[in-house]
Amino acid sequence: MKTLQKLSALIVILYLGVGCSSEKTEDQLKTQTEINKKEEQVAARSGLKPIGSGVMMQAFYWDVPAGGTWWQTVESKVQDWSNAGIDAIWLPPASKAQNGAFSMGYDPFDYYDFGQYNQMGSVETRFGSKAELQSLITEAHTAQLSVIADIVINHNSGGDSEVNPFTGQSNWTDFNPLSGKFYRSYNDFHPNGIHNNDSGAFGGFPDLCHDQAYVQDWLWKGAESVAKYYKNVMGFDGWRFDYVKGFEPWVVKDWKNEVGGFSVGEYWDGNAATLDWWSGQAEVSAFDFACYYRMKDAFEGNDLNRLNDDMLWKRNSMKAVTFVTNHDTDEIINGKMLAYAYILTHEGYPTIFYRDYEEWLNKERLNNLIWIHNNLASGSTSILYTDNDEYIAKRNGYNSAGIVVYINNSNSWQERWVETNWSNTTIKDYTGHSNWEPVTQSGKWVKIQVPPKSYSVWAPK
Ligand code: ZN
Ligand code: ZN
Ligand code: ZN
Repeated sequence: MKTLQKLSALIVILYLGVGCSSEKTEDQLKTQTEINKKEEQVAARSGLKPIGSGVMMQAFYWDVPAGGTWWQTVESKVQDWSNAGIDAIWLPPASKAQNGAFSMGYDPFDYYDFGQYNQMGSVETRFGSKAELQSLITEAHTAQLSVIADIVINHNSGGDSEVNPFTGQSNWTDFNPLSGKFYRSYNDFHPNGIHNNDSGAFGGFPDLCHDQAYVQDWLWKGAESVAKYYKNVMGFDGWRFDYVKGFEPWVVKDWKNEVGGFSVGEYWDGNAATLDWWSGQAEVSAFDFACYYRMKDAFEGNDLNRLNDDMLWKRNSMKAVTFVTNHDTDEIINGKMLAYAYILTHEGYPTIFYRDYEEWLNKERLNNLIWIHNNLASGSTSILYTDNDEYIAKRNGYNSAGIVVYINNSNSWQERWVETNWSNTTIKDYTGHSNWEPVTQSGKWVKIQVPPKSYSVWAPK
């Protein structure tokens, strides 16, 4: 940060030098304004925790209470979450959608209406007003949390009907938002003069054409674009791109290159190679649906051997965002706590689902796993043992000694000899599930244990 500040100061000095010897042109004034703005942003967000150093919170679920109180609910929790080791919160799509006060946001209409224009049947969104959202973001930043926006740019909803000359048929592609920003017509959707379609459409929603220069300008390129408004006016720090199967990966890459910020795409596909391909093309992270489905097979299908299979985090741990539940899918039921023990001790950037944390699971147990993730679980991964109901792996350590994690999906206590990275070392179970404190042999072997339907995490005492 110091280097950045020095660099900014240097730029200002250089600029002043130029300014002394000549009249300030409009361009120079603009440049100065930009520099000031950038400095303010850097200062305002310099205290944020690095994304990935902790755990992400998905701060909503499908059909959170309506009535415009959700932003306040989340705001009341951000400091506690930060204390527990959360480093970022992911909010639902925040701007006005066709279903107005009832919408979860995935049918976007006016990207610049955060609950301040009376349209689609209400002023506020389901989640609250613009002022309440800004208050939440400020509070999250004060708690050192980054705020990730859910961005729906595959499709729009709520336009008026007009005839598309390329098909001769009527379609709901005439958008006249009250913000006065990003009016759209049939030219901005498929089919249009550019082509008939992109890589996918969602339901019957008008499918935005990202090849259209006008759409690019309004979404991310222009000074008033959605991306810049979200970032500079609303204060969002990162992006979760919805339904990225519906358009080409360069769209996300261009957006990210234009405005920066941590980015993750929802490429809903259980094939690890495909996820790896997409995240490589888009140059951003992807949700690890491969890990999700292998965990489902492992914990619900009672075969922990499936955890040996291919996952995005095994191919590219820096690009994998792991999760057990999200607003769309919640299929790992019986082994859910074991699945959290898995993602919070393994590589990738883990996400915790709001309801799992606040309502359904044991918060103290989750906080313990978050602490283990943030403080002990570093380095590469080696799987030490698997069978139908047992799984043992070790993290080899990087800035810590690493861990050995033992997951047990059977109905009885289990114990097993394993080869650790430590010789002649007293170790203990940091979950507190076992009170053993065994000493590793000079050859690094040691016997560890785990309770039924539970897990233990071993590291030097
Ligand atoms: Zn297109
Ligand atoms: Zn599409
Ligand atoms: Zn979705």
